[in-house]
Amino acid sequence: MGSLHNLPTEKLQALDASHHLHPFTDTLALNQKGTRVITEAAGVYLTDSDGNRYLDGMAGLWCVNAGYGQREILDAAYAQMEQLPYYNTFFQTSHPPVIELSALLAELTPEGLNRTFFCSSGSEANDTVVRLVRHYWASVGKPQKTVIISRENAYHGSTMAGASLGGMKPMHKQGGLPIADIEHIMQPHWFALGHEQSEEEFGLRAARALEERILELGAERVAAFIAEPIQGAGGVIVPPANYWPEIQRICREHNVLLVADEVICGFGRTGKWFGCEALDIKPDLMSVAKGLSSGYLPIGGVVVSDQFAHGLEQGGDFNHGYTYSGHPACAAAAIANLKLMRREKIVETVESTTAPWFQQRLAELADHPFVGQIRGYGMLGAIQLVPNKGTNQAFPKEGDIGSLCRDFASSNGLVMRAVGDSMILSPPLIISKSEIDELFSIARQAIDQTWAHWQKAS
Ligand SMILES: *Cc1c(COP(=O)(O)O)cnc(C)c1O
Repeated sequence: MGSLHNLPTEKLQALDASHHLHPFTDTLALNQKGTRVITEAAGVYLTDSDGNRYLDGMAGLWCVNAGYGQREILDAAYAQMEQLPYYNTFFQTSHPPVIELSALLAELTPEGLNRTFFCSSGSEANDTVVRLVRHYWASVGKPQKTVIISRENAYHGSTMAGASLGGMKPMHKQGGLPIADIEHIMQPHWFALGHEQSEEEFGLRAARALEERILELGAERVAAFIAEPIQGAGGVIVPPANYWPEIQRICREHNVLLVADEVICGFGRTGKWFGCEALDIKPDLMSVAKGLSSGYLPIGGVVVSDQFAHGLEQGGDFNHGYTYSGHPACAAAAIANLKLMRREKIVETVESTTAPWFQQRLAELADHPFVGQIRGYGMLGAIQLVPNKGTNQAFPKEGDIGSLCRDFASSNGLVMRAVGDSMILSPPLIISKSEIDELFSIARQAIDQTWAHWQKAS
């Protein structure tokens, strides 16, 4: 444990402000306010340095699927570090934990996806995807297939390639992105973009945008299409039911690889082991991270199909890898996490019991006069706040109301995230029905308070 553990909050905040640069943060604004210091967690609850308790409605950052304090994950990492804390997987070497995890993933992932390239995060997984798919096409004699098509408002990580694949404009603006040969098409966000059409018409239109772009570029240039089965950081956007089948058809017809970014949807979030299974997608590659180790230690990977692996084998050396590819302690934590999830039937319980309850309680908020749309699937939810119910009209300054609602929620003891003016939920998968009730009672209270504030102000 760090030696600062018992310092008063103001001291911790002052040190943080002086020496720590936070991700996705306006440093000046944060340091005027002071950061929240989280010190402990157990089950679905967090504790801060002032002793306040919060229900973690976000599972950390969409990753603590198994919940906090799972002793067997800690023990596995500790035992592995005692025996072999580190060795690399370059230069024709391997070690038992990475071998076991590779085989375990082959068992858990959909049929035909049997080999994994390891890294330490979702961003690195997607960087690896870019190099893998381009090298694959070069290896099978089609080196001109280099373009990767993604979607506006997608999130694929924060590294140069990850942020390029992502469709977040504010990220592209910083650092001269996107990198070459990355294209973006519209996202399947019916509420924001398709209100004048039926959900079905819109689903088809959004999918056909892929075909149009492929034809524009020429299929002989297009390497892959990458997408999250359900967009997470973009605001929990569940595509219309006909979207994915049409995407699947288009990729097959034009010989374009389909990459599912399962970094959020993977490992039980949808009530299946992978979002692909929930939405009936047959990907050639899957990026995984987050729930792979339930966030206990950093690990990610790209799982590829047998056919893809065979193609890649034609190309000789793949000149790519990380010092920590398949890190033994991280792999051991992932194995323990996956075994725990399998033994305790966590994914099955999500599907049969807790996700239906979560979705029912979420849907009850649709009646609220401040709520314009509810989006959800499995253990993912979004509550879209709107100034005028019945329209998809936005607030005058996007995000202010969402942030206010988030702050009310945390004052009331719930971590709920704001994406613009959508309130986002993605709790640990071990959450019980009574904890789900507590979550929604605090969420409703926060929405009431935000609405009262809005009515007074306008
Ligand atoms: C979080 C996330 C990433 C990036 O993962 P990091 O571990 O933060 O690098 C990539 N894709 C999706 C869908 C994500 O949600």
